[in-house]
Amino acid sequence: MPHSTARREFLLSMSAVGMGILLPGCKKCIQGSALGNAQIPQPTGSLVTRWRQDPYARGSYSYIPMGGRASDRVVLRAPVQETLFFAGEATSSDSPSTVDGALLSGLRAAEEVLASSASRIAVIGAGVSGLAAAAALADAGLVVEVFEARDRIGGRVVTDRTLGTPLDLGASWIHGARGNPLTDIAEDLDLMRAKTRYGNQVIRNEDGEVLCESDTSAGWQEVTWVEHEYGADIADLSDEAEEEGGLYGGKDRIFVCGYDDVLEAFAGDYEVRLNAVVDRIEWSAGRVLLDAEGTPFDAVIVTLPLGVLQSGSVVFAPELPQEKRNAIADLGMGLLNKVYLRFPEVFWDEEADLLGYDGPERGLFSEWVNIAKITGEPVLLGFNASSVADELEGWTDEEIVAEAMRALRGMYQG
Ligand SMILES: Cc1cc2nc3c(=O)[nH]c(=O)nc-3n(C[C@H](O)[C@H](O)[C@H](O)COP(=O)(O)OP(=O)(O)OC[C@H]3O[C@@H](n4cnc5c(N)ncnc54)[C@H](O)[C@@H]3O)c2cc1C
Repeated sequence: MPHSTARREFLLSMSAVGMGILLPGCKKCIQGSALGNAQIPQPTGSLVTRWRQDPYARGSYSYIPMGGRASDRVVLRAPVQETLFFAGEATSSDSPSTVDGALLSGLRAAEEVLASSASRIAVIGAGVSGLAAAAALADAGLVVEVFEARDRIGGRVVTDRTLGTPLDLGASWIHGARGNPLTDIAEDLDLMRAKTRYGNQVIRNEDGEVLCESDTSAGWQEVTWVEHEYGADIADLSDEAEEEGGLYGGKDRIFVCGYDDVLEAFAGDYEVRLNAVVDRIEWSAGRVLLDAEGTPFDAVIVTLPLGVLQSGSVVFAPELPQEKRNAIADLGMGLLNKVYLRFPEVFWDEEADLLGYDGPERGLFSEWVNIAKITGEPVLLGFNASSVADELEGWTDEEIVAEAMRALRGMYQG
């Protein structure tokens, strides 16, 4: 989720007390710095994510679609015969589709296991939920083995450093820093964070003109306020989706040196098997087998992303109860993709936290994060979400970067 409750709170507070920068009437609208007709430079490096095509995620984060219910998450997380336990962001009702939701879901599943008689536990997935569960169980003295399909831990928390600076391909923010367990972790590990002020945004159209938020198109508002948040088309969202999340107060914070530093907090006395793709979970009460030659476990915590569960790439034998299969089918797996572009120097509005693009095509590169403001490096991060992002996943990297550059040329060359 790129903005969450803090953004919503900001919007509400703006209209309530008139303190915002982008007020209707445009009096205090940020003016931005125009580049005139000068050519903007070509990027010297780029990173493009495709979370839908990722076989171990199949999307970015969950949401409640039309026809789905908040109660589907309750059904999804319910243990089966004290043997199959479930964690992961999609099982969180308080803070779904976030890292903190994943973390707390892992701790909740660990408590459920501890209340059972199981002592030898398999955890599927070394994302934040799986690692948090494994660390808690190992702390309590249980024997824990984590099976992770990728060649790294972290799942949807992943930081790329190939462009010479840490850039998060999955999660970026602590959503609502006050009271958030990730704030405690960041404090303990002394991780540098920067505030994001969503109101500190310069919005431009394809002619390079600066717009007040109140003058932006309805499409731009829907995309940046809603569709980027849920990773879903506005028409596909249930009313119940809006009521989820917003557990914590305070500003959103972004990790300056990369989100993956938080993973250190989940170190513990348990084994992680990397490159260990699980494709079959054979189970009966008190017994779980993940591969034919392996030793059985007493229980398993399944942290497979909702999109993986929906894809059927992991077979449960016997299959999951019908109610749980219905919940899996009825929830939605949203999509938010990122494009990072590194430039020789900053040519954009360097004081803005965010750059908006209200261009001719709805949803294409509508919002950008000014990474230079956070790290000092001349990098921009562009977002695409929902069906637009799904379509772009079929494009080559070169085509996607060319489209991103088209948006930036509109914004800064006019
Ligand atoms: C682009 C993007 C932006 C985001 N922005 C934010 C943000 O700013 N703030 C925020 O709080 N959240 C954000 N999120 C959401 C956040 O990243 C997730 O909610 C959270 O990381 C999920 O953790 P998890 O443990 O539930 O799942 P995951 O991290 O997906 O962990 C599941 C693990 O299971 C593994 N796995 C999958 N299939 C198999 C298999 N068959 N066998 C073995 N292992 C398997 C996966 O490789 C993965 O490591 C964002 C996500 C994305 C993609």
